[in-house]
Amino acid sequence: MASPSFLEMRSRNVVRILQAVRQQPGLSRAEVSRCCDLAKSTVSVIVDELVESTILQEIGSRESFRGRRPVGLIFNPSSRIVAGISLDHSRTEFVICDLDATVLAVRTKKHARRSSLQYSASTLLSELQRLLIEKKIDWTSVCGIGLAAPGPLSSGYVVTESGENLDYELFRTKLARECNCPVVVDSNTNMAALAESRTGAARDSEEALVIRLGHEVRSTLIIDHKQLKGAQGRAGELGHVSVPGLDERCRCGRRGCINAVASVDAVISLCRQQGTAVQDIEEVISAALRGDKKCQKVLSEAGRAVGFGIASCINVLAPPDVIVTGRLIAAGNMLLTPLHEAIEKYAVAESLRSCNLIFDDSQNHIEAIGASLAVLLQDDFLGHLVSSPASNLSIS
Ligand SMILES: [Zn+2]
Repeated sequence: MASPSFLEMRSRNVVRILQAVRQQPGLSRAEVSRCCDLAKSTVSVIVDELVESTILQEIGSRESFRGRRPVGLIFNPSSRIVAGISLDHSRTEFVICDLDATVLAVRTKKHARRSSLQYSASTLLSELQRLLIEKKIDWTSVCGIGLAAPGPLSSGYVVTESGENLDYELFRTKLARECNCPVVVDSNTNMAALAESRTGAARDSEEALVIRLGHEVRSTLIIDHKQLKGAQGRAGELGHVSVPGLDERCRCGRRGCINAVASVDAVISLCRQQGTAVQDIEEVISAALRGDKKCQKVLSEAGRAVGFGIASCINVLAPPDVIVTGRLIAAGNMLLTPLHEAIEKYAVAESLRSCNLIFDDSQNHIEAIGASLAVLLQDDFLGHLVSSPASNLSIS
């Protein structure tokens, strides 16, 4: 059996070779050897294995004035897939991406709303398997799963169907064991921010604040494509900023938090308290669009509270880009008009003028897409591509 140090060195060499070929498609084995400063024999052994496992492809030899050029190498993004799963109290979203993060398939599964985050690893994997079968993708192609869950990460729990109360790390371990591939977990907000910073509205931004209007109102500050996580991953609890004039009680025990009127749960609950029978945020928005004055008022109050929160962020951080995402944005002007009014009222004018405010509802499944990206961006991801294909999956 190979020693750990040999495997580590080999893994590092695999990464260097794959990075070289991705950056310069068409390199020959000899050129890879020079480029990576590795012995030709080492490159040859690894490249043969990468070609055999279809991660690299050979492109035909070409004639040149010096004679036949050696066979070139290109990276094959279709050789494996990664999956992103977004967990919520009322829905699960699945996304399948290739190794270039191109989305190949998506699925949303709604279920009855649960007070706790209740999931079983095997149910999630069975659902993912159904999507793969539907898209004629083999299980053995899965080389990593990203999991987006309601944050913050340090206090998140999943209640499994058997009644176990697992923190996210334990649930991640259980899922990784069942699917026999690496699993990465982070909060829904951080996963959405990752997608925004890599493929979405913040992809060209060096500093951006991403605000997600979801289960709760949360934010992530991105600097040079890195997220500020804070102590124990608790940064970004924008929803617990108090708004002047608000008295509603928040689940944190205090009164007047943004979450108390603008989290998806609060919006649904406030509409119900006013006598409108709604099950989810889509029903709230539909009712408001049909002219339900009570739902319109709830959405308006949510917009005002979020606007105050955004103005506070602009005053403190002066971010050049603020990207607001999340399911609540679908309410349109019923939410956004009071939101803008609150920003104008509370933000310092000079900071507001230099802030590019973007409401991004263009990316569906953004949390699950971010979860896929989190897998692809793992430092050791490329190194494990050959050694750990998920070939031993046994999904019931
Ligand atoms: Zn609170």
